[in-house]
Amino acid sequence: MAEYNVKSLKAEEFINDGEIRATLEYAEANKNNIELIDAILEKARPKKNGNGLECKGLTHREASVLLACEIPEKIEEMKKIAEEIKLAFYGNRIVMFAPLYLSNYCVNGCVYCPYHLKNKTICRKKLSQEEIKAEVIALQDMGHKRLALEAGEDPVHNPIEYILESIKTIYSIKHKNGAIRRVNVNIAATTVENYRKLKEAGIGTYILFQETYHKESYLQLHPTGPKHDYDYHTEAMDRAMEGGIDDVGLGVLFGLELYKYEFAGLLMHAEHLEAVHGVGPHTISVPRLKRADDIDPDQFDNGIDDETFKKIIACIRLAVPYTGMIISTRESEKVRGEALNMGISQISGASRTSVGGYTEEERPHDSEQFDVSDQRTLDEVVRWLMETGHIPSFCTACYREGRTGDRFMSLCKSGQILNCCHPNALMTLTEYLVDYATPETQAVGFALIEKELEKIPGEKVKAIAKQNIEDIKNSNRRDFRF
Ligand code: SAM
Repeated sequence: MAEYNVKSLKAEEFINDGEIRATLEYAEANKNNIELIDAILEKARPKKNGNGLECKGLTHREASVLLACEIPEKIEEMKKIAEEIKLAFYGNRIVMFAPLYLSNYCVNGCVYCPYHLKNKTICRKKLSQEEIKAEVIALQDMGHKRLALEAGEDPVHNPIEYILESIKTIYSIKHKNGAIRRVNVNIAATTVENYRKLKEAGIGTYILFQETYHKESYLQLHPTGPKHDYDYHTEAMDRAMEGGIDDVGLGVLFGLELYKYEFAGLLMHAEHLEAVHGVGPHTISVPRLKRADDIDPDQFDNGIDDETFKKIIACIRLAVPYTGMIISTRESEKVRGEALNMGISQISGASRTSVGGYTEEERPHDSEQFDVSDQRTLDEVVRWLMETGHIPSFCTACYREGRTGDRFMSLCKSGQILNCCHPNALMTLTEYLVDYATPETQAVGFALIEKELEKIPGEKVKAIAKQNIEDIKNSNRRDFRF
């Protein structure tokens, strides 16, 4: 039997089944232990430290006690602290992105995914470089600056060379005032050498969802293909970091296994990355299983309701306060709106999950990866965010200024976010409003920006930001950043 060891590079030791089971037992035994719950909540609360605020985060055991707790007032308190943490480190900014599906050819047998090899009804597509250009222009014309590339695993159709060439194509397209300034990549687990190539191609975050941390279920859910190898998949982030990628994005597909098990596994993975590489995950995504071609989510027993889903998000926020959290258009406007206040810092907008979907007039369904719940346009999402007290941000500055990995975390902890991320968000939002927004959205946005500029504490930074915003409004000068 494998022993738990957070620093081990072996999947079964850092995501240790025995430790997860012991954690779940401990959480169950303490779920009504008010004294302990209060102490954990107190530990999670942001505290003053010099000029800024600091958070200690929680261990997987502590966070699991909160997740197990069913006392309504305590759950409310978790959500309140989650919001405090979010405002302390991320402010009211929400980073915007869109997925770009390159190819749905796949050799794996994942039983929950419509790309699975045996699915003969889905229309298989792979974008050519010309088609990628057209998709990227469509995305730029909406106002997107940040993409997440998605592809099935297929060494013949989608080899690493295809992914690298596609990244090069995407960064090279300059259309009107548009530009994709950060390309994140969500492709199957690969080798250190390939991760190095992705790093050299200038990717932002490497995202790979674990799907489930429960090994036995994992093996059944991925019966065939290279993804069947649980250890290779689970150890992928260590290889990515060895290859020089220091922003990695974790996630589980909620609905496949029991959520408490997944939650503990996810936090143990984050603790492992921190212990071994000195930096935790850059982001955590919280996808829930959706209906798709040949996939009926009701076949899976472990679906979670909206209340549980929100509680999970709040508990993740408490446990890893400096990690960005992403929610996609798998979720409805209502759920996304509520989740934003519990710690989400990035959302996708106007997503099409079909290969080549952005160049189609009507939303196509024939090659889709999953049903999109939130089908609003980017303009609608941006306006909605602003009207509900958020600042949509198209900023990509950190990654382009080399503030990745622990350097990003230091910025987060330094209290300088209001002098850096806040003006960057306002400047990139101005770009969006000037170049792409409808007059209604512009009106809401410009009023918001004027108000938000006053929150910049540094007088010099404030003056520069105001000047840059005027320049964006009155010229074609773009891409200002701190
Ligand atoms: N092929 C890559 C891999 O193996 O990790 C990643 C790309 S896949 C397009 C992105 C993610 O979509 C998967 O990791 C999975 O979590 C999610 N996904 C698959 N089927 C889904 C479904 N029916 N509903 C919601 N999300 C799904």
